[in-house]
Amino acid sequence: MEATKVKSWMEQVIRPEEYEKYLGKDGRDFIHEDEIESLLNTVRADASRVREIIAKSEEIQILTLEECAVLLNTEDPVLWEEIFAAALRVKQKVYGPRIVTFAPLYTSNYCVNNCLYCGFRSENAGEHRLQLTEAELIEEVKRLTAVGHKRLVLSVGEHPCSNVGYLVKTLKTIYGVKNGNGEIRRVNVNCAPMCVADLKQLKEVGIGTLQVFQETYHRQTYAKMHPSGLKSDFRWRLYVMHRAMEAGIDDMGIGALFGLYHWKFDVMGLLAHARELEARFDGVGPHTISFPRLRAADGTGMAENSRYSVGDRDFKRLVAVLRLSVPYTGMIVTAREPAPVRDEVVQVGCTQIDADSRIGIGAYTAENSNADQNLKQQQFELGDTRTLDQAIRDMAKLGYISGFCTACYRSCRTGSHFMGFAKDSKISHFCMPNAILTFKEYLLDYGSEETKKVGEKLIRDEFERLDPVFKPVVSEYLRRLENGERDLKV
Ligand code: SAM
Ligand code: SF4
Repeated sequence: MEATKVKSWMEQVIRPEEYEKYLGKDGRDFIHEDEIESLLNTVRADASRVREIIAKSEEIQILTLEECAVLLNTEDPVLWEEIFAAALRVKQKVYGPRIVTFAPLYTSNYCVNNCLYCGFRSENAGEHRLQLTEAELIEEVKRLTAVGHKRLVLSVGEHPCSNVGYLVKTLKTIYGVKNGNGEIRRVNVNCAPMCVADLKQLKEVGIGTLQVFQETYHRQTYAKMHPSGLKSDFRWRLYVMHRAMEAGIDDMGIGALFGLYHWKFDVMGLLAHARELEARFDGVGPHTISFPRLRAADGTGMAENSRYSVGDRDFKRLVAVLRLSVPYTGMIVTAREPAPVRDEVVQVGCTQIDADSRIGIGAYTAENSNADQNLKQQQFELGDTRTLDQAIRDMAKLGYISGFCTACYRSCRTGSHFMGFAKDSKISHFCMPNAILTFKEYLLDYGSEETKKVGEKLIRDEFERLDPVFKPVVSEYLRRLENGERDLKV
């Protein structure tokens, strides 16, 4: 595409009037750096306060910034063990022992931005730029459905060739692919922030969660990391979920990229974001929180050289504190993390993982194995390249049912409707039956013999633990699935 066309497209993307109206009278946004820094510098943790805060979280109440700072500043390793145990209890109370499973699908790596940490950034001349044709897209989706995926996260760079019209067309194509019993039932989208009118188009075509990560809530670091392009406007990005709500998308995924600035600051930033959404939109907070850790990427030296790299111990701590801080939210740990780290943080509250992931453009149909990564075509390097069947089996061995459930979204249990169930710990009444049913579907259609063995036992055990009200219908649906019916949900 000609440079002048790209430039004129860029000039009309950002509309300050769509976020200025949300600023305070003093012109400030909701990230009060001075308050966050001051809390982190002054608050001290003692055992009784930590336990009080844990008890509040176990009542499924969002924490204050001060309470979050207490947890973050905990030093006693014994108290940390209590925090980890509580994080798991909260997760089990809200969602039960299930893990939602999805795959990322990257379809275009053209990008006008220059995020210093990303392989797709515009100044990375070594990156091989590609956008899938419609036929290639269909082949990728067929490959994903052939191994059992039902949920995708569509990811693209920011560029006029991957604008809202492109995303709408891509979503329609994905939803239209049928492959035996295979189909994609929910597509979440991880993309650049857009204006309200564009977001309405995504809503109409059936977007699942809109994911946009703030990367870091620390302004100075944000400016340093995003030196040019549209992404350098901190507030255009910060207020995208406000615009999403205006556009009718009440299923919001926020996130921060850990390793850009101090991890404790960005945990506080995520909580401030969740609290702002709740306060502004009648109790509707983020549907999911993501906390990717910086990974090596082609043409950047960021992951190797960042002074804010987060080690495994702190990573587990940040996951547990987020779990307790926003107890009702879904939490996603992606294949950026190596398998042992993922297994560990699932046990402190994560609710979603991707599996069998490939993040190069056209990588699912490439003639190689998952472990062969082509950094010239992907955004960063993956840490976990297990196949879907392996990942599901490993999760089952840890006692987790891998669900492909899309029932809430397709039964309009989103936004305030979903939040009501999640905050009353009633969402697990839906989650567990639907997790069992979609897991059963997976085992019948795609599971290896070994996975079936572990999985069927887990289904029997979890069936016994179901709320008695749901047992008759789940039992009936399991029988119907065995007889060949599909897509049964409560
Ligand atoms: N281009 C869109 C944007 O920037 O919002 C989509 C971004 S990308 C598909 C999703 C996320 O990947 C980014 O928001 C960022 O948090 C993360 N990411 C980028 N580079 C990364 C790296 N080197 N390691 C780990 N995660 C990275
Ligand atoms: Fe582009 Fe997103 Fe990568 Fe930034 S993170 S360079 S916006 S693809």
